[in-house]
Amino acid sequence: MNKMNLNELTVKEAARKLQSKEISAVELTQAHLDRIKKVDGDVHAFLYVAEKEAIAQAEEADKIITDNISPLTGIPYAVKDNILVKGYQATAASKILENYKATYDATAIKRIKTSSPVMIGKTNLDEFAMGGSTENSPYGVTKNPYDLTRVSGGSSGGSAAAVAAGEALFAFGTDTGGSVRQPASFCGVVGLKPTYGRVSRYGLMAMGSSLDQLGVFARTVEDTAMVFQQVAGPDEYDTTTLPKPVPEYSTFLKDDVKGMKVGVPKEYFGEGMDPEVREIINNAIKKFEELGATVEEMSLPHAEYSLAAYYIIMPVEVSANLSRYDGVRYGLSIPGKSLEETYYNSRSDGFGKEAKRRIMIGTYASSAGYFDAYYKKAKLAQDLIRHDFNEAFKKYDILLTATAPTPAFKIGEKSADPLSMYLADIYTVGLNIAGVPGISVPAGITKAGLPVGLQIIAPHFKEENLFWAGHAFEQSLNLKLKPQLAE
Ligand code: GLN
Repeated sequence: MNKMNLNELTVKEAARKLQSKEISAVELTQAHLDRIKKVDGDVHAFLYVAEKEAIAQAEEADKIITDNISPLTGIPYAVKDNILVKGYQATAASKILENYKATYDATAIKRIKTSSPVMIGKTNLDEFAMGGSTENSPYGVTKNPYDLTRVSGGSSGGSAAAVAAGEALFAFGTDTGGSVRQPASFCGVVGLKPTYGRVSRYGLMAMGSSLDQLGVFARTVEDTAMVFQQVAGPDEYDTTTLPKPVPEYSTFLKDDVKGMKVGVPKEYFGEGMDPEVREIINNAIKKFEELGATVEEMSLPHAEYSLAAYYIIMPVEVSANLSRYDGVRYGLSIPGKSLEETYYNSRSDGFGKEAKRRIMIGTYASSAGYFDAYYKKAKLAQDLIRHDFNEAFKKYDILLTATAPTPAFKIGEKSADPLSMYLADIYTVGLNIAGVPGISVPAGITKAGLPVGLQIIAPHFKEENLFWAGHAFEQSLNLKLKPQLAE
């Protein structure tokens, strides 16, 4: 088998080849390192490639691979650079953490390591996960593997692009308002945002603590479920995780959706939706009917407040969370004549424009004089939005929408206008506001060759519905996606 094909395997296929000894973990890892050398100069998914360490991990994996080992053993994966992996850099793509190295493993990393996969590198993001294009990274933009003049999405653009470009078989990201689902949609891969409280946030750099969740990227729904199985569940280090049993997700992967009740929220099909995206999503919805689901148009009446509520609640939490980067405790420090001047110097130089913008908005909206007018109102809107989803899920097993209103946009197209960038989050933020899980599954490709994702939404702690619906849809669609990169 030639090395190129090794970069197109799913986790499941690679595991089969590893376990039958057709290939070794070292070969598989080397193929991915070679691929990174070849394409990452263009794509720029990685901030750090763990070349030597990855080979050493692969050698260890080769020693233990038998045919009943975990399917993740020896599988190369990538990690967004705001997630802690002990001994590796964790910059959150911020100058303020330029030289910071993680001193412990995030819980998800600790759990995945029990299967001995191979950590191949740390991926690029918008600074502290704030953005939707990976353009807010001081280390350069991550380009879309399907069109290098376009963005990979964000904020987990590096992780999405790495999986899409054949540089890793799966990857971790974080999703506060769409940062896993939207880049998954733009890059033609699967991206999961779990229920708030289903997976530990311990070892994730906090952006909006009441909204953040760890997410998974992979090439198939089945691979995504397999990885998620390993990391889901309560954690004593994160008291927001709930002690609910984690079902065996593989048992939900069926080829049809017979008996499934599907709602299509009409508020998610308003103006601003690209006509090609609309067509692809409408076809996806038809597919669900063909596969045996009952599909109905319905309403989430307060959906229109999602974006406004998100862009108040999130920056308020950002302003609190980023206050710990003070030039004293972590990373960059530019001493001044007084402590205050040290804070000022370090934060002025360390944070980029978007981080500063959100700190300002959040500080303003939570200040004594404006708290009632902004933050309190946003929290009231949050209650209404959450209520809408709860009501909907009394009747439906899943809801279907587009993940993003457009395919990947051009680099630079929105970066000068933050409001137009925020609008791109219109379909994703409501889920974080309500805490419900969602997955983006590739649903089609535009005439210009850009992937478009279908967003599937499920009730709290019902990720199995996402996997059930996503897998059946993916199997019947059988979309063959492959970026045209130099080979
Ligand atoms: N694009 C959204 C934002 O800029 C989402 C970010 C995220 O999910 N981390 O806030």
